[in-house]
Amino acid sequence: MPSHQPTAGMSAVDPAFISEDRKPSPVAKSSEPNRNKSYDPKKPHITETPMTRYNFYKHVNWLNVFLIVGIPMIGLVTAWWTPLYWQTALWSVAYYFATGLGITAGYHRLWAHTSYSATLPLKMFLAFVGGGAVEGSIRWWARDHRAHHRYTDTDKDPYSVRKGLLYSHFGWMLMKQNPKRIGRTDISDLNDDPVVVWQHRHYLKVVFFCGLIFPTLVAGLGWGDYWGGFIYAGILRIFFVQQATFCVNSLAHWLGDQPFDDRNSPRDHIITALVTLGEGYHNFHHEFPSDYRNAIEWHQYDPTKWSIWIWKQLGLAYDLKQFRSNEIEKGRVQQQQKKLDQKRSKLDWGVPLEQLPVMEWDDYVDQAKNGRGLIAVAGVVHDVTDFIKDHPGGKAMIKSGLGKDATAIFNGGVYNHSNAAHNLLSTMRVGVIRGGCEVEIWKRAQRENKDVQYVKDDAGNRIVRAGNQVTKIQEAPESAGAA
Ligand SMILES: [Zn+2]
Ligand SMILES: [Zn+2]
Repeated sequence: MPSHQPTAGMSAVDPAFISEDRKPSPVAKSSEPNRNKSYDPKKPHITETPMTRYNFYKHVNWLNVFLIVGIPMIGLVTAWWTPLYWQTALWSVAYYFATGLGITAGYHRLWAHTSYSATLPLKMFLAFVGGGAVEGSIRWWARDHRAHHRYTDTDKDPYSVRKGLLYSHFGWMLMKQNPKRIGRTDISDLNDDPVVVWQHRHYLKVVFFCGLIFPTLVAGLGWGDYWGGFIYAGILRIFFVQQATFCVNSLAHWLGDQPFDDRNSPRDHIITALVTLGEGYHNFHHEFPSDYRNAIEWHQYDPTKWSIWIWKQLGLAYDLKQFRSNEIEKGRVQQQQKKLDQKRSKLDWGVPLEQLPVMEWDDYVDQAKNGRGLIAVAGVVHDVTDFIKDHPGGKAMIKSGLGKDATAIFNGGVYNHSNAAHNLLSTMRVGVIRGGCEVEIWKRAQRENKDVQYVKDDAGNRIVRAGNQVTKIQEAPESAGAA
């Protein structure tokens, strides 16, 4: 496998792409491909007026509705009368995968993320089949996708899942978008790529030829099925490849796990991977966007990665970028730690020591004599009244420690209590003894604002590790060993 590492000179992610210190104007420049040239930023845009029964048609992008929904509907109806030959069926599936790869390996991983480099013949192939998927020009697509990564889940994310699953799927194309909301991104590298510029300039011709004419010609000249080629390998194949790749923006932000970071919406799921030619490991992808892989395990489904790897073996692709597994594992461990912290914070670890009242020793002894089930271990007083009858070692044993310093008895003097016993005991604590060993010293230091070091998680909750409970004395007093 390739082991190319992003190094200091060649950053893994284009800094202009993530740097927040440059505060760009919120409005895309008129030279950017997603900006309608006739748009006047001084006049109010239709999206700034609320949608009503009477003006909703003005909010809809009817051209896109016709292209994305209308044409496939016509295709579906026409397919009813169109016989499907097996050659045409095979060709439709093959061209589906080729045009899908044009989007995933070409538009996405090569141009939007520059996760590898391609030779001219491979670029031309990807620009051709990518054009056949009918999802806009490389320039337009990659620009919006960079905005999606830079502004994920915010108002400037062109297909933010926060606006709804259907919106992120294709609602963002079916409804007019407010140009003021489209965050700016740097696409200077794409403007320098002659293949990208050529495809953008001749986009309509590319779409008609690669999307409809070419698949029709193959079926027609190959086995005489022009009409079937047009309906199945053309129109319906476009519909399926569009819906599949749209799932990267919808399903991949909605379904699955978040093994690397759960602060944003991207998720990993095998179903999304199966639908999108391997783009389903989207939590990983948003963390490591310039990695040419989406799936990092050999058994995960990522045909886009396999294709790029094969192209490398054929000399068509080079400089495949890959993050070190050390970096990937760090992210995974941190996320696991976060989950663990959340789980720990929900458990009862007993009243924090600093919130417990301080008791005089004599007071403790008196209360125990007067029938309260108090027991002191390592300077901490516990009320075990309700627990005496449940004590696994019997009532007599626990009663023998009431009103005494049971530190040694508890820590091996009579029985070296388990970790679970120390945990349970801590939930019963009600006070600390004045002068009670380290506990009282620790409390005094707290009052005097001295630095008291206890391991805490990000939320400030103390982490009590097994064997580190305050009642646990690391080395039991020797004299008590034989009892
Ligand atoms: Zn995404
Ligand atoms: Zn991406």
